[in-house]
Amino acid sequence: MGQGVITMAHGAGGSVMQGLIKKYIVSALGGSGVEVPLEALDDAAVIHGIVLKSDSYTVKPLFFPGGDIGSLSIAGTINDISVMGAEPLALASGFILEEGFALEDLQRVLLSMKAASSSAGVPVITGDTKVMERGAIDKIAINISGVGIRNEALDSNIAVVKKHRMFEGRWLVDSGIRPGDKIILSGTIGDHGIAVLSARQGYGFETKVTSDAAPLNKMISKVLRVGGVVKMKDPTRGGLANLLNEWSEKSKVGVLIHEEKLPIKEGVRAACEMLGLDPLEIGNEGKIALAVIPQKVDEIVEVLHSTEEGKDAQLVGEATEEFDMVAMETVVGGRRIVAPPVGDPVPRIC
Ligand code: MG
Repeated sequence: MGQGVITMAHGAGGSVMQGLIKKYIVSALGGSGVEVPLEALDDAAVIHGIVLKSDSYTVKPLFFPGGDIGSLSIAGTINDISVMGAEPLALASGFILEEGFALEDLQRVLLSMKAASSSAGVPVITGDTKVMERGAIDKIAINISGVGIRNEALDSNIAVVKKHRMFEGRWLVDSGIRPGDKIILSGTIGDHGIAVLSARQGYGFETKVTSDAAPLNKMISKVLRVGGVVKMKDPTRGGLANLLNEWSEKSKVGVLIHEEKLPIKEGVRAACEMLGLDPLEIGNEGKIALAVIPQKVDEIVEVLHSTEEGKDAQLVGEATEEFDMVAMETVVGGRRIVAPPVGDPVPRIC
């Protein structure tokens, strides 16, 4: 039976949250036997060729530089479906509203959702609203679920991988990375988390950094058409450190990244230094990491560079059999372990 109570760390994307999901949620609800099931803890599930994803958004504050809870919610769910190698088709929305929440703010959030969904070409086609008493919830929480179908370029993408090495399964999953695969980042890290923090009361620092929240389905389709992608994943809560540790654990490979190659904006670096944060652990909402076969690195980086969202893409590391953890070669020449964060140092960023 359960003991104790939920703490903020249970929602923070690190090892405490992973523990909650495995010990409680998977053990109660897992075991469906579908193609990519709950217990895979991947970005989305797959059943009868349909990719299904649900995600809830509780970001604080609701409005921040570069976005708001509305645009964020659309982007987050679309990206989780897309990284599986799927084409998102439609979304479902659930709103939980606090008594006293300004209708003007609700309308602003809805218009922002509409703009994001139109730009991605993925409509919201059903939904639900509930209201809770004042104090029972903080203004608004949004759930966005979505469905997708196999991306038309996924088969040709996998065929390119198979020309060079073994590849099992029909989807891009966390457990498919092998030693020798290269790791590409689609752009700068830490922007979203730092932008949200800068708008949060009590932190009081000024920055030009804006959130990167954006739907990436169109960029992802372009990359799949090149071929050679083994897995993609969005470094949201827990940041790149959490993402790479998930890959390392599920694929049973080591991952080595090179600090000097990590794209990080000066404003993010400065804010992290001031607040004692590690940019590797800060969440992003408009970036993906890609594991690709070495033969296609140059072409994939080139295609990423041709898109607005991927213009700062960079090869940052590789999977290795030398060790079984995540390590970083630092700018001064040493190596340090990149541990999975215990919890996101910045709670409620999504
Ligand atoms: Mg994800």
